[in-house]
Amino acid sequence: MSKKRITIPVFIPHIGCPHCCVFCNQWRVTGSSSQPNMPAVAAVIEKYLSAVSTSVEKVELAFFGGSFTGIEPELQERYLSWIQPYIEKGEISSIRVSTRPDYITGASLALLKKYHVETVELGVQSFDDEVLEASGRGHSSDDSVKAVKLIKESGFRSGIQLLPGLPKDTPQKSVRTAEITVSLKPDDVRIYPAVVLKDTALETLFSSGDYTPMTIEETVELCSVMYGMFYENGINIIRMGLHPMDFTEGDNPVVAGPYHPAIGFMIKSRYRRRALETLFKDWRSEHSDSRPVSLLLPGKNREEFIGMNRENIFYLKEKFFLTDIVCKYTDNSEPSIQ
Ligand code: SF4
Repeated sequence: MSKKRITIPVFIPHIGCPHCCVFCNQWRVTGSSSQPNMPAVAAVIEKYLSAVSTSVEKVELAFFGGSFTGIEPELQERYLSWIQPYIEKGEISSIRVSTRPDYITGASLALLKKYHVETVELGVQSFDDEVLEASGRGHSSDDSVKAVKLIKESGFRSGIQLLPGLPKDTPQKSVRTAEITVSLKPDDVRIYPAVVLKDTALETLFSSGDYTPMTIEETVELCSVMYGMFYENGINIIRMGLHPMDFTEGDNPVVAGPYHPAIGFMIKSRYRRRALETLFKDWRSEHSDSRPVSLLLPGKNREEFIGMNRENIFYLKEKFFLTDIVCKYTDNSEPSIQ
């Protein structure tokens, strides 16, 4: 069985962030509005460590939710120093922080290096300046390019977070953003399709009709193209879509937009469907009958190829006029038709 990695999340909502991006309501997304103290962080760490099995090869701690390098340096050092005993004992092997592109400097990276931070993730959101301005980001795409380069040159692993579907965004701009991302060769990407959360400026824009979020179908189609670009270039896609939120009825923070707990799977499955379509198109060019066919799928990704409720199989049957598609599984990495 392959060895796993786990990430211990520590949320620091809005610490270090004087900005108010139109889409952001960190308190609601993280479900927390209080800043962590040492006993609280230690309790989270102990809870995770007590559940680590022998199949886990790497334990990472991640500070999520704020702009880490925007916090006063003394407080950054305090947070990071709490983790050092676990690193010295080998119980935690690395630290990940997330921050804004315009909060990256040589000095801020030197501080992170001193405390064994391994990965620096940037909330890039888009590489289009019009989108960044309409979203209240307060930095340019050039700031992001420079920050990613500096992070990599300083010897850190790098991560880029993208938010397709923001105000003034288009599918073409999002694909261009993915192209620039690929050219920067980050280690990790996250794709968070923009959703309208309660108590954000985006909610006001949505209510006044000045912003229309993408539908689930538009999101799946666009993000499957972006996913394919990253996947085919060996970039690690660590998340697509917001984490499933635990809310009671009447307290749903999502006002509108493409929020779905399985959106990541739906995106991967659309990407796989495109590969199967190409395969069936080639097959169809040499076969005109509608007899049942046997489709040999890589066992490892079988669910993604088949799709939710077998939707990819139904789609292919209809599109290529087939009476049936019988799925079989193989160790091969590519699908084929028998
Ligand atoms: S997205 Fe980041 S930079 Fe923008 S308001 Fe939220 S925490 Fe601040």
